[in-house]
Amino acid sequence: MYRSLDRRVHPRFKGDPTLKSNNYIKQTFKIASFHKRIKETRNDYLNKVASFLTRNFSAICMENLDIKEMQQKKGIAKAENDLAFFELEKKIKFKSDLFKHTFVLADRYYPSSKRCVKCGSIREDLSLKDRVYRCPSCGFEIDRDFNAACNLFKYMKKKIGWGTSKFTPIELDKLVNDCIKNKIIYYFQTIGNVQYNDNKLLNHGLKAKVLSAY
Ligand SMILES: [Zn+2]
Repeated sequence: MYRSLDRRVHPRFKGDPTLKSNNYIKQTFKIASFHKRIKETRNDYLNKVASFLTRNFSAICMENLDIKEMQQKKGIAKAENDLAFFELEKKIKFKSDLFKHTFVLADRYYPSSKRCVKCGSIREDLSLKDRVYRCPSCGFEIDRDFNAACNLFKYMKKKIGWGTSKFTPIELDKLVNDCIKNKIIYYFQTIGNVQYNDNKLLNHGLKAKVLSAY
């Protein structure tokens, strides 16, 4: 759309007497409305995720990520700008206050990804490519993000003194149905022996990937 805008007649440099053509002005309106649409889509998604989390969980722990440092990394900076991490944090904080739920923000330099959840040793050479965390000192293997989540859970337990990660099957059913209703997850995992292979999910055109992960 910007390329198309550039092809329209408009002043090319400072002091250029050319006027902006009607087609140029029309195209700027198109671009503005498209930007608005992206903003609204993102806002809608963030609101859905935040309210889903705060509805279903009485305590939430989040990482305080160093976004400025992350934006300097090549390849993911653009995608990360699009995610609006801080906006999500703000929304979750606000909504958990509404439900009177606990919100914990982990320290900025708390090594959630680098720490082994089993033995607590820290692996300094962990890069973004390592999707599976392999502990060099105890040999423990676990999904990278799940490891970080477990570490944050431990952090929260230490901070507020309580917390549980166990669901009864009925609660889990409710949780997954809530997810499907709001269309916020496309992939999910089964916990224990409970499997979810809902037809509703397939009707929505979503891809269901059922794993027995842990
Ligand atoms: Zn370990």
